[in-house]
Amino acid sequence: MSVIYQKVALIGLGLIASSMARAMREKGLAGEIVGHARSAETRETALEIGLVDAVYESAAEAVEGADLVVLCVPVGVMGKIAAEIAPHLAPGATVTDVGSVKRAVIDAVGPHIPEGVHFIPGHPLAGTEQSGPRAGFATLFMNRWWLFTPLEGTDRKALDRVNSLVTAMGANVDEMAPDHHDLVLSVVSHTPHLIAYTMVGVADHLRRVTHEEVIKYSATGFRDFTRIAASDPTMWRDVFLTNKEATLDILGRFTEELFMLQRAIRMGDGDMLHDYFTRTRAIRRGIIEAGQDTDAPDFGRAVPKKDE
Ligand code: NAP
Repeated sequence: MSVIYQKVALIGLGLIASSMARAMREKGLAGEIVGHARSAETRETALEIGLVDAVYESAAEAVEGADLVVLCVPVGVMGKIAAEIAPHLAPGATVTDVGSVKRAVIDAVGPHIPEGVHFIPGHPLAGTEQSGPRAGFATLFMNRWWLFTPLEGTDRKALDRVNSLVTAMGANVDEMAPDHHDLVLSVVSHTPHLIAYTMVGVADHLRRVTHEEVIKYSATGFRDFTRIAASDPTMWRDVFLTNKEATLDILGRFTEELFMLQRAIRMGDGDMLHDYFTRTRAIRRGIIEAGQDTDAPDFGRAVPKKDE
């Protein structure tokens, strides 16, 4: 494939940025990749493992002369970073982001973007519970959705160009209004994460009563919750603080359904429970048919051997 951007600046060098860097390198999509992260340790690691050609102590230096700038930091610091880089952005450059929330990022970043620079908010629906520059891998975006939430007056050519970059990294692209994005993501990602955090929190309290049995006998249900609840605390704190309305809306609906199921259990209403679980099972089948997961049992993950 051919080079789409001459110089890409990645601001933040964690899981998402490092996966982008690996995918861009593998496919030859960028002439040069440079980066900035908060800590010297992350910057040194990124350089050492060859994610980037150069690292800079400041985000402002990193974006000099870049035709694509990707904000890959937690949602809560995007506005601060945008203010720092704004005077250093090259005319005609595109700024995009990978933040999990879109309305708050647009409100925080948008006002800083100078005339003649294109701002195209985006969000790859791909990730793992791991973080940092070593956590990324080139195939992370393969067959995953990458949503763009263009603004009024977004330059179509600039959008098409960033679209061609993420498509070349294996992603499928769709466009959405920012508020709609935040509602949809609250259902499919944000609230499920909060529920997982809560369930693991409950188990943690119970652990003292059950003498570690919760950990020892953790089977797939609880174990899968713990995987989700191991996600980066800073990232998720910011997601909930910035997608407050949609999260509270979906949590309200969740609580109502939970009470309904609680009542069915109390009343011994087996038919109701069976119908409910039949409907939810069909949703999982739909996800597999859409190619967004495998139907391999236990998600295909192997149980570690005794001596591992
Ligand atoms: P990550 O692995 O934790 O990496 C975050 C990076 O941001 C690190 O390099 C960190 O630098 C840097 N950073 C944090 N605060 C900073 C600051 N004030 N100034 C400069 N750099 C700073 O995070 P990630 O998973 O890649 O997530 C990045 C973004 O992608 C977030 O907005 C998140 O919402 C979004 N996203 C994540 C996922 C996912 O599943 N992980 C999926 C889709 C989208 P240090 O290492 O030096 O602290």
